[in-house]
Amino acid sequence: MFKKILIANRGEIALRIIRACHELGIKTAVVYSEADRDSLHVRFADEAVCIGPPPAKESYLNIPRIIAAAEITNADAIHPGYGFLAENPSFAEICASSGLTFIGPTSEMISLMGDKALARETMNKAEVPVVPGSDGIVSDLKMVREAAQGLGYPVMIKAAAGGGGRGMRIVFNDEELEKSFQTAGTEAEAAFGSPKVYVEKFLEPSHHVEIQVMGDRLGNVIHFGERDCSIQRRHQKLVEESPSPLIDDDLRERMGAAAVKGAKAVNYLGAGTIEFLVDNEKNFYFMEMNTRIQVEHPVTEEVTGVDLLKTQISVAAGERLSKRKIKPHGHAIECRINAEDPLHDFRPSPGKITSLHIPGGFRVRVDTHAYAGYEIPSHYDSLIAKLIVHAPTRNEAINKMRQALEEFVIEGVHTTIQFHKKVMMDESFRNGKYDIGFLEKFVFTD
Ligand code: ADP
Repeated sequence: MFKKILIANRGEIALRIIRACHELGIKTAVVYSEADRDSLHVRFADEAVCIGPPPAKESYLNIPRIIAAAEITNADAIHPGYGFLAENPSFAEICASSGLTFIGPTSEMISLMGDKALARETMNKAEVPVVPGSDGIVSDLKMVREAAQGLGYPVMIKAAAGGGGRGMRIVFNDEELEKSFQTAGTEAEAAFGSPKVYVEKFLEPSHHVEIQVMGDRLGNVIHFGERDCSIQRRHQKLVEESPSPLIDDDLRERMGAAAVKGAKAVNYLGAGTIEFLVDNEKNFYFMEMNTRIQVEHPVTEEVTGVDLLKTQISVAAGERLSKRKIKPHGHAIECRINAEDPLHDFRPSPGKITSLHIPGGFRVRVDTHAYAGYEIPSHYDSLIAKLIVHAPTRNEAINKMRQALEEFVIEGVHTTIQFHKKVMMDESFRNGKYDIGFLEKFVFTD
């Protein structure tokens, strides 16, 4: 097992990793920017190294400074968390060549899955159903037109290197196609450094259902069931739950088997997520694979009783995955509490948390780095807490979430708490009748 892990991240996920390490008897070192001097990850780690000014480019994305921090703290592995460098193949490569274990898949696997067009091709070859779309990259108008007409409108033009819900454009007809294709390429180049795009059939109504997988160094891959992440705003997840109200045992079995097959095809190592779109006829299609631990992993932990972080660290250290059958119990829901103002287009609301009360009770979990007096910096994402509940049934889980949201008090900044209360009271949500278009029709007033 590792002796010391350097955590190349911040916020709640840095704390989550610190907890897992300390429970495993592993020492921790963290990096932090000047904006995070007073952050809890700095306080709770065994060691902390300041790596630069607030902008991520000069700190959490600065590879040489992070490697130097690992060297001076004598760490033997690096956990990248999610976001920042978690899916950066050069970072994984540099860690390896510096003698540090990167807690995640190999650089080659990250590159393969990071190119969404290549990932589609790989899954196709492994006989995993893929969202209907173009044969790889479309590089000129003729190709994009042929693909769109073959698929039938509406279609989506997607950046091959895209991520974080960005780099996607819906096109409804031939007239819009040329302009959308040009803009998509320019935007992809500016945002992701590559103009490559491909075309997919726009599947709506559909559901975002993802399968959590884990692979060890001996070639074993297992899955931990699904998470439904269809409650999204601008392609970004706000609420996640497991099991999905849409998925029955037979479909779960088939999707799980497909995910394992896909992951095995690339000899997958570590924690990963295979994202699918599921239509109302319960056909499922591979959309993309995320090669990291995800924000929403706690819902899976709650229903399976498995600590995914500890498992991820153990397999990175060479341990074999347990052969024990994963048996989900009950229902878990997560609400992302963001420092954003839902009444003003969810604009970020950084600033000082003047007062804070965290909910509690039986099977109520809060993963957060916030505390009373904490100043939320404006430089990073706006996630300040994840509220997760677990109960025997979906209905009980929703009622528990409502109670927990009621108890949650954050003053000094705007948050999404009130918004989540309304979602939990919505009839369609309560009946489990929702798809990825749900929030577009949802009207929020305070
Ligand atoms: P990212 O990597 O940026 O998260 P994804 O490919 O995972 O991008 O897509 C994000 C979200 O966009 C999905 O969860 C879904 O809601 C929507 N989406 C993506 N592709 C399609 C599609 N072909 N049809 C309908 N919705 C889609």
